[in-house]
This record gives sequence, C-alpha cells and structure tokens, in this order.
Amino acid sequence: MSLKCDIVKDLVALYHDGLASEVSEAAVEDHLKGCKSCRDYYKQYRLSAPVPINLNFASSGNYGELAKHMRVRRLWMLVSALAYVSASLCALIMLLMRMRRK
Ligand SMILES: [Zn+2]
Repeated sequence: MSLKCDIVKDLVALYHDGLASEVSEAAVEDHLKGCKSCRDYYKQYRLSAPVPINLNFASSGNYGELAKHMRVRRLWMLVSALAYVSASLCALIMLLMRMRRK
C-alpha cells in the first residue's frame, strides 16, 4: 500500500508517539523507506518532538512516570533552545569578525 506524502505527513505525529494503528504504522514506515522528502520531514519532526508522549501513562494513573516523561521532554526543549541560541551567537560573532576584517 502506497500513501500520498500529505497523508504520511499527517500521520507522522501519531506514528512518532506510537499511537498509530499497526496498519498505519507499517504504511508510514514503508513510505518513509522510499520517500526522501517525507524522511526529511520526519527527521525535522523528531528534532522538534524528541520524546514521544505515551498517553498510557495518564490513562493508567501512573502520574509519576508521566511527570518524569514531561521533565525529560522539557529538558530536551531547553537543550534545543540553548543549542539554537549558541549557534546564533556563533554565527553573529563570525559575521562581526568578517565585517571588522574589511
Ligand atoms: Zn512522501
């Protein structure tokens, strides 16, 4: 079964969080193997949401585990933000150094 790219991009969030049905999961995996554009999209998506939310934590009443999961996710977001800021600063410093040389 071959899905269209738009449908795969809609399913990527469910696939990443482990909430897609087995059939959808297999179809998405199959499509990702053969489509570079969707693979790149999925890589970008994983960077913005590195830790999948498992809704089973909440429904099983395991809030300690859910809280731990949320802390890890927050930490990832903080690390991503710091990486972005430091990369921007490096680019700015390099630009200033280049301007000063002229
Ligand atoms: Zn595709």
